[in-house]
Amino acid sequence: MTEDLDIIVVGAGVAGLSAARTLAQAGVRVEVLEKSRGLGGRAASRRLPGTVADHGAQYFTARDPRLQAQVAEWQGTGDVQVWAKGFHTLSAQGLQEPGESYPRYTFAGGMNTIGKLLGDGLNIRRSVKVTEVSRSGAGWQLWLEDGTRYHAERVLLNLPAPQALALGADFSARTKAVLNSVTFAPCLALIAGYAQAAPVWRGVQVKDETNPLSWLACDSSKRSDPNETVLVLHGSPSFSKTYLETPEAAHPHMLRVAESLGFAEPRWSDLHRWRYSKVTEPYKAPYLQDGTLFFCGDWCGGAKLEAAYVSGLEVAKAMLGGQ
Ligand SMILES: Cc1cc2nc3c(=O)[nH]c(=O)nc-3n(C[C@H](O)[C@H](O)[C@H](O)COP(=O)(O)OP(=O)(O)OC[C@H]3O[C@@H](n4cnc5c(N)ncnc54)[C@H](O)[C@@H]3O)c2cc1C
Repeated sequence: MTEDLDIIVVGAGVAGLSAARTLAQAGVRVEVLEKSRGLGGRAASRRLPGTVADHGAQYFTARDPRLQAQVAEWQGTGDVQVWAKGFHTLSAQGLQEPGESYPRYTFAGGMNTIGKLLGDGLNIRRSVKVTEVSRSGAGWQLWLEDGTRYHAERVLLNLPAPQALALGADFSARTKAVLNSVTFAPCLALIAGYAQAAPVWRGVQVKDETNPLSWLACDSSKRSDPNETVLVLHGSPSFSKTYLETPEAAHPHMLRVAESLGFAEPRWSDLHRWRYSKVTEPYKAPYLQDGTLFFCGDWCGGAKLEAAYVSGLEVAKAMLGGQ
């Protein structure tokens, strides 16, 4: 089957959805193809009995006025809350109190709420994996894992750069060089439930190269009525790299750090492996263009969720300008 659309967006992450939303609002016929069942990509939450926990993005910032306006709207509907204005730090000297700075926002119903809100009303096909993107006349042909083919005059890829690179033998040499230059760190994320009361800290940034973790969060402090204490532990980039193929061996090392902060013997725990977590070397522009093929994502101009949102807005503006 071949379908003709104005623009196909591959990936329903924050960048792809903010772009698709802007394009659809301008009257463009746009369809989003997403390999997962859920929306939001790395702004991910796991459903737990009676609650949720964020195992991807932990919080987000809003320095860009366009995201600030969106956040104000979401605060009005009760979806977004200020979770913290600073975090504890853990070093060889022990746990230090946080200083106050800018707000860090979270979604009360889990970070994947952002995918649901941005994707609302859009034309999205879920659980479809794009396996190849090739040139077809002035446009592009997309091959899906299930054998479906799509054709579009313009295509927007919202995937981590290494995954985007793997889709296109036909990309220009410059595009391949840019995609090759972008790097990501992996992250092992462990969610664990405890009988102990919640800690005084909401988030802890680990400032110790020898520690297996880079971050701990009391995820249940984001929820209105938690029935237990849920912690999220993130392995440091070097630790996560070491155990990426043997994550079960990482488990005890990660739990020992929580134990040192008073959280021994979790009732349950669940590990998630992110091969591409945070951007370590970005492309220094808000989007990448290869003729009628465009790329967006956190790796375009930044490293985090806010950069992804802004990249989506900027690439949509460029695509609308080029109509
Ligand atoms: C463990 C972890 C912790 C983080 N902590 C923070 C934080 O505290 N604060 C912060 O601001 N940011 C944080 N981030 C980063 C933040 O999550 C990302 O910057 C942001 O969500 C990236 O959005 P994106 O749209 O660029 O990409 P993604 O979210 O990666 O979206 C890409 C989408 O494409 C889909 N896809 C991939 N391949 C295909 C294919 N072949 N076919 C179809 N669909 C495909 C994916 O399923 C996904 O939905 C964290 C990330 C991780 C993993």
